[in-house]
Amino acid sequence: MTKSNALDLLAKKNEAFRALNMASSLIHWDAATTGVPEKSLEARGNAAGWLYGETFSRFVAPDTLEAIETLESFTNELNEKERAMVRKWGSDYRKFHAVPPEEVKAYNSLVAQAESVWEKARETNDFALIEPFYEKIFAYNRRLCDWYGYEGHPYDALLDDYEKGATVKMTDEFFALLREKITPLVKMIGASDKKPRELEGPFPLAKQRDLTKWLCGVTGYDVLRGKIGEVEHPFCTTITRNDVRITTKYHEDNILSSLYSVIHEAGHAIYEQNMSEELDAYDLGDGASMGMHESQSRMLENMIGRSHAFAEILLPELKASFDGFKDWDNEMLYRAINIARPSFIRIEADELTYCLHIIVRYELEKALISGEIKVKDLPGLWADKYEELLGVRPPSYAKGVLQDVHWGAGLVGYFPSYAIGNAYAAQYMHAMKKIVDVDSAVRAKNLAPVMGWLKENVHRHGQVHLPDELARRATGEGFNPAYYVDYLQKKFTALYQ
Ligand code: ZN
Repeated sequence: MTKSNALDLLAKKNEAFRALNMASSLIHWDAATTGVPEKSLEARGNAAGWLYGETFSRFVAPDTLEAIETLESFTNELNEKERAMVRKWGSDYRKFHAVPPEEVKAYNSLVAQAESVWEKARETNDFALIEPFYEKIFAYNRRLCDWYGYEGHPYDALLDDYEKGATVKMTDEFFALLREKITPLVKMIGASDKKPRELEGPFPLAKQRDLTKWLCGVTGYDVLRGKIGEVEHPFCTTITRNDVRITTKYHEDNILSSLYSVIHEAGHAIYEQNMSEELDAYDLGDGASMGMHESQSRMLENMIGRSHAFAEILLPELKASFDGFKDWDNEMLYRAINIARPSFIRIEADELTYCLHIIVRYELEKALISGEIKVKDLPGLWADKYEELLGVRPPSYAKGVLQDVHWGAGLVGYFPSYAIGNAYAAQYMHAMKKIVDVDSAVRAKNLAPVMGWLKENVHRHGQVHLPDELARRATGEGFNPAYYVDYLQKKFTALYQ
């Protein structure tokens, strides 16, 4: 195969992937947002399965490897995007083929069963139900580390699936810093009797929908190149670069839930909308990593959406739309959108305590993979770690070790990327503030200067650079969690002093 044949072949595969992915995403969007006739489900499922099979078979075909190997022998003649494409395809292809096919098949059917068993175990608060499944899932992931290969800790191999280049060493250092600086702060807040006022409804849904439109205008999420749907569990999906859709769920008695889910998903969507269109042809038009995507949503949601400046522009909107804000001022709202308290449930956790929930999961996963602990000890160790880090002991497995779907879904090594995303967000914010007056942009209700910086330094590059390198180019240094820990410490010490 010649170099140009190899490039043509991968370009053709990429074109097919985009079309197949577009069809799958539209099937998913349609089912999630509009509801579909019950009797259409089987045919839709079959079609989605067929589309996946088409993508898969194109990817694993022997000519893919031939093209990768051909291009690897011409690395010096390739441009930056071509090199990044070859690196990505080579890594994915070899990882996939490192695992014996019969193992993949057995694991897929194990996980398909485990998800519904996990649901039942959580409902009935019965850890013993899911225990044998977790045993097999973690045993498989231990073998997976060997198949993938690793240099330091075996868990490095799993982390790399979600956060390219991340290691146990880097994550341990990050979490040690959080433990040292944030845990005492959380315990102090847990014991404090300072209780900010909470927002009182009702919040009519029509007004909430208007507020969503206002938020899109402020953040710069381009609704002419997207769409807003309503669903049970909010998500963002990319159909094409010019059609990136977000979703939310409105609750009559809670305005903050939809407000912050819209800001969060808008952060993801703007990242996608701002990606350079030419990257699609190289299969690089996606977030640099899970954590990098999360850095964009959490920066917008927390570092901007829960700032003093944002409280100032939000309050007049709330006063104009709802009855309960007549005697509120900016400072009261700022405190109300930044309530921090130790809790049991990760997905409901506030900005300050969120990463401590992640540390619990990370330390347990890592110890299971290295064989230091056993699955049967998880419930007790989980509760001990919550007590140690957050000062609370879960009253049930449902509010403790059984709350997350991830392990039952076979996802091990995923959790740290949430925390890593928060740290990247603070690192970017620190660098951006040297050039962009972020608070003034918020007060002007126009984040264009902020999004301009992010587009130039982060968004448009897609997957051309690995996460650490992307951060280095944007901020002058690789992953550095000190900015995040410092940001949390300053913000919450001031709030709860
Ligand atoms: Zn997210």
